[in-house]
Amino acid sequence: MSTQETKIALITGGSRGLGKNAALKIAQQGHDVIFTYNSKKTEAEEVVREIEALGRKAMALQLDVGNSKSFEAFAKQVHSALKQTWSRDHFNFLVNNAGIGIHSPFAQTTEEQFDQLMNVHFKGVYFLTQKLLPIIADGGRIVNISTGLARFAIPGYSAYGAMKGAIEVLSRYMAKELGARGIAVNVVAPGAIHTDFTKDSFDSHPEMEKFISSQTALGRVGVADDIGGVIASLLSEDNRWINAQRIEVSGGMFL
Ligand code: NDP
Repeated sequence: MSTQETKIALITGGSRGLGKNAALKIAQQGHDVIFTYNSKKTEAEEVVREIEALGRKAMALQLDVGNSKSFEAFAKQVHSALKQTWSRDHFNFLVNNAGIGIHSPFAQTTEEQFDQLMNVHFKGVYFLTQKLLPIIADGGRIVNISTGLARFAIPGYSAYGAMKGAIEVLSRYMAKELGARGIAVNVVAPGAIHTDFTKDSFDSHPEMEKFISSQTALGRVGVADDIGGVIASLLSEDNRWINAQRIEVSGGMFL
């Protein structure tokens, strides 16, 4: 495959968990990958090495998706990287994945917690995508990561679930407004998945795994490997006509 034909994906939060798994699956499909990390530089460098071992180009850039003031400079940095490494002005696929979890009952959620979730999960996706639009190729794709918690309610996730619900609405608007450029926008909504994101909850509530497994048609909690391939497949030519859809990937939770 020549450099011209190679597609490039940009994934936020590719140092660990679902973003890392998606980065590797996307590389396995023959695409090059730029991904971001927030604090885990060493983990990010290891992911770069894993992608390079697959024969693809990879680059890790630092980004705090909760700090929208940094997005313009980040977009410039991505553009320079595209020029230098790929001799191109555009990348093809954006995966808005980076995120944090805050578990807090509705009655006790503070404005600070709310704002943090808002900045990372909603404002960040909104304005980062906006700032990157000029360097996303026409005919590209965007995948936004939501959660099963935007469909069903588990106590303690009111702010998080609501921000992800907002992402699902935003994705339909993006699809409508970016369709003229041939850009398809879809949502992947994972169920409960074993990553660092859920580790504390599963560790401190051992009964949770049993409960979730019992409420999941396929009878277990998910793993990162259940998700990355779905994200990668939404970028494939075979799936080019899927647009403005929410695809829940939960093994059938709370049917
Ligand atoms: P992890 O905690 O395993 O990984 C989180 C990733 O996001 C890391 O790469 C981390 O970077 C990055 N990140 C965290 N905060 C920021 C920030 N402020 N700015 C930039 N990057 C940041 O989480 P998961 O992989 O499990 O979650 C990924 C996405 O999937 C999230 O959007 C989450 O809401 C969603 N999700 C997860 C589910 C689950 O059960 N795991 C279920 C449904 C949805 P670094 O490593 O540098 O800290």
